[in-house]
Amino acid sequence: MPRDKIILGCIECKRRNYNMTKNKKLHPERVEYRKYCPNCGKHVVHKETR
Ligand SMILES: [Zn+2]
Repeated sequence: MPRDKIILGCIECKRRNYNMTKNKKLHPERVEYRKYCPNCGKHVVHKETR
């Protein structure tokens, strides 16, 4: 299965905090995950960036 590297960025401070992979066939849209942002010091929604 081809998996593409994506970067997740905090929606509040725009900092790119996480690298991960996703399967674009399963998730063709931009994914969102609630993750801890060390810059904001709390859990914030992180969105896929390019
Ligand atoms: Zn943040």
